[in-house]
Amino acid sequence: MTVWIFPGSRLRSGFDLCEAGAFAKFLRLRPMLLSLSFTHLTSIKMTDREKDVSGLCVACGLCCDGTLFPYGFVRDEADKKIADDLGLSTTEIKGTRLFSLPCLHFSGCCSVYDKPRPHTCSAFFCPPIKKYRRGEQTFEEAEKQVKLFKEHRDKLLKIASQFQELAGLSFKALKDLLEESADDDAFVGRYRQLYLMLFIYRDIYSKYFQPAQQDKLIV
Ligand code: SF4
Ligand code: SF4
Repeated sequence: MTVWIFPGSRLRSGFDLCEAGAFAKFLRLRPMLLSLSFTHLTSIKMTDREKDVSGLCVACGLCCDGTLFPYGFVRDEADKKIADDLGLSTTEIKGTRLFSLPCLHFSGCCSVYDKPRPHTCSAFFCPPIKKYRRGEQTFEEAEKQVKLFKEHRDKLLKIASQFQELAGLSFKALKDLLEESADDDAFVGRYRQLYLMLFIYRDIYSKYFQPAQQDKLIV
């Protein structure tokens, strides 16, 4: 089986603005920021591009809610301690330490943005955002791709919720169930519309969200 992990390979230089309080926190940090070197300051200054990305991520959450990844990457012992302190359950698969998603701290947005979090939480960018940051597409295009994906995911969940036995399943649980039951004709017949939606979901995913090869983990 192949799983894609929420890998986190770059330093994100923005700040999460999940709640208005986050900005107040940023202001409180200013004395500390002033003691940093010029290099540090330029690396953490929030550009318009970073503000765009932060705003989009806050409204999105696909990285945290289990839609895109079943696991987040824990890069070293210090990261593991942070995950433990946050109560995130970690597991080791083929020598790679991971924490499970959906994250227990995600409820519409990250509720622990002001605490130390695993490196991946602030370092990962999805392919649409990466392309925007590299100047390969506009912010509007990236936003459209993220919104399209999320809207489609939500539609799938809404249709599933009309079936009593599927209502309340997370997206990940629903997707796993549909994939595991794909050979059961009676099951497929009953949930034909969901399979059609899953087919479109995969198409959008492979067009815009397929992660890089190095983030693949064979288990
Ligand atoms: S999927 Fe993209 S836009 Fe959404 S939270 Fe992750 S990095 Fe941000
Ligand atoms: S700690 Fe916050 S940013 Fe990290 S996975 Fe959980 S909800 Fe997402």
